Amino acid sequence: MLNYFDVELTDEERLVQRTTREWVEAEAMPLIADAFEKGTFPRQLVPQMAELGFFGASLPKYGAGLPYSCYGLICQELERCDSGLRSFISVQSSLAMHAVYALGSEQQQDRYLPKMVKGELLGCFGLTEHDHGSNPSGMETRAQPDGDGWVINGSKMWITNGTIADLAIVWAKTPDGIRGFAVETDTPGFTARVVEHKLSLRASITAELHFEDMRVPGTALLPGAKGVGSALRCLNEARFGIAWGTVGAAMACFESALNYSKVREQFGRPIGGFQLTQLKLADMLTGITQAQLVALQLARLKDGGRLRSQQVSLAKRANSMMALEVARTARTILGGNGISLEHPIFRHLVNLETVITYEGTHEIHTLVLGQDLTGIAAYS
Ligand SMILES: Cc1cc2nc3c(=O)[nH]c(=O)nc-3n(C[C@H](O)[C@H](O)[C@H](O)COP(=O)(O)OP(=O)(O)OC[C@H]3O[C@@H](n4cnc5c(N)ncnc54)[C@H](O)[C@@H]3O)c2cc1C
Repeated sequence: MLNYFDVELTDEERLVQRTTREWVEAEAMPLIADAFEKGTFPRQLVPQMAELGFFGASLPKYGAGLPYSCYGLICQELERCDSGLRSFISVQSSLAMHAVYALGSEQQQDRYLPKMVKGELLGCFGLTEHDHGSNPSGMETRAQPDGDGWVINGSKMWITNGTIADLAIVWAKTPDGIRGFAVETDTPGFTARVVEHKLSLRASITAELHFEDMRVPGTALLPGAKGVGSALRCLNEARFGIAWGTVGAAMACFESALNYSKVREQFGRPIGGFQLTQLKLADMLTGITQAQLVALQLARLKDGGRLRSQQVSLAKRANSMMALEVARTARTILGGNGISLEHPIFRHLVNLETVITYEGTHEIHTLVLGQDLTGIAAYS
């Protein structure tokens, strides 16, 4: 097969992609189906990911300062294994570390980022609440000034890495509007509980956070985190990684279906020889190739400082849906075997149901684009 995915990459980008893929194949792939089945995050991979420079890969000064295209390729290769693995580094790098880097003081950056790069300190990002998902401005978590610190009460829902995080970026309403806090999770009053019974992203930890009279020092306030827009800017970083990661998930489904179609015989011939199967393969390949070019263009714009948030919405929305459609089509090629965990497709398929929902649902990104096109906000 011609390598249609071999887009115009620089030598550095190829090296990052190859290194990540080799590590994923050797260390992560053998663990992932079991982790998914048991509903556990393969935490033993964290030191190796840190060693490879995955955390804060594009952060200047503290991280490796790689171009965003390289960070995107890391996300692609990790999600080729599992969306849960990519979610882990999206939260660590794009949400938690980015919040500290972009919105934190120099003291906060120096206190947390070197340890986060090494994977010695894990982060989570608490924005969503039980009753406030697509509209985080309605949040009910409150931070009241108290002497030289703050007292936070409330809760957060669906928080990735919540029970393993050492540092939680917590968004709360203050008398001056929504602000972000860097909360060390051993603070009295902080509790985290795993969200059970998930049928998607099972190899990723999702938690509910509770804050009960949680007193944090004044130094916990992220000085640059003012208003919900600051939180959304962090989400934009993570959505960039999703636009890339979903290409990886789709690649894995496509490769599995293509290989299967060549060996599975019905009516005395490989099912890949039927025109209907070939149509499915051609459509999947086209979707993946288009999405990969969108992701690469996104990275080129980001590296050039020309990226608009609406372009990130477009790419997150389009590439997530492409991957979900590829997974659904690939699953049909495997027939009954398509629903088994012995093949990666169904695992990717159910993961992608979360990916089209978190970091802004498919519908909300549609409305973002609608507003950009018409100048009229349909959701306010
Ligand atoms: C596994 C997982 C991990 C997550 N990790 C994190 C995390 O680490 N941190 C964090 O803060 N959050 C996290 N989330 C939360 C995620 O971002 C939210 O689930 C998402 O924003 C949607 O919010 P909701 O679930 O409350 O759905 P709702 O906002 O209640 O939406 C329900 C439906 O209504 C639609 N809808 C809502 N408003 C409109 C409108 N105006 N017009 C049209 N349709 C609309 C939505 O598109 C959706 O289809 C995670 C979620 C999951 C499932």
